[in-house]
Amino acid sequence: MDLGLKGKVALVAAASKGLGRAVAEELAAEGAALILCARHDEALQATCAAISAATGVPVLGIAANVAEPADVARVVQAAQGRFGRIDILVTNAGGPPAGTFDALSAEQWHAATQLLLTSVVELTRAVLPGMKARGWGRILNITSISVKQPVENLMLSNSLRAAVTGMARTLATEVAAEGITVNNILPGYTRTERVVSLADATAAKEGISAADATARWESQIPMRRLGEPREFAALAAFLCSERASYITGTSIPVDGGWIRGLL
Ligand code: NAD
Repeated sequence: MDLGLKGKVALVAAASKGLGRAVAEELAAEGAALILCARHDEALQATCAAISAATGVPVLGIAANVAEPADVARVVQAAQGRFGRIDILVTNAGGPPAGTFDALSAEQWHAATQLLLTSVVELTRAVLPGMKARGWGRILNITSISVKQPVENLMLSNSLRAAVTGMARTLATEVAAEGITVNNILPGYTRTERVVSLADATAAKEGISAADATARWESQIPMRRLGEPREFAALAAFLCSERASYITGTSIPVDGGWIRGLL
């Protein structure tokens, strides 16, 4: 299937590692030019160079913290300067701290709101006028399985990703007639650095091995294994493509069957 991504320009946020990087690699393999951001310039530039060498597409890396609106504006400005437009936006950020309601401070709520919700609002605000002017756009938010089935001890993620989902569904209706789709993709337990370090942290806390911590997650997943970032990225690239032109306002999990709900 030709996804029709050749020559499109995609901004993928928080993409030096993990899911963001995997999505960037898949879009580049389909011929899209990229703008990537992440907080640490060295890791980001190494990722940009590797993707460009592997695919031949131009990849611009701008160090930025997506929780800072001024950084978001700088990334979008640099992308406009280099490529003249952004056709595809993939929002992403690092995960917020775990914790129950009682364990979280007002400062942690504020920081998580900036990281998970404000970053999506600001990135979207910056790219939407150009998409409207060209009559074509794809906005894809990386959220979590927690929007369909809250995950214990992840109060901040469960709450703020639900807010992103509400925003995305509302925006999808507002811009649908202008050729712009807005969707969310929901990772389940996927083998990234974050999940490996979560397993280490769980192991240290409970006095078990990291393998045992991972095995406990796997026992809750019908496929009995973690997902691979490439499996996640395949759906992401499709949702960003020309071929996904009649899909908008959805939240689609890539979770090995973890969510037990019907819809
Ligand atoms: P990861 O830690 O492997 O990678 C995160 C990437 O984001 C890195 O490139 C990092 O540099 C960048 N980043 C972090 N904070 C940033 C910020 N403030 N500004 C700019 N860049 C930033 O994480 P991942 O596993 O790829 O997860 C990505 C997102 O998906 C997270 O929000 C995570 O909570 C969510 N998620 C992941 C899983 C999973 O199993 N991997 C499951 C559900 C949800």
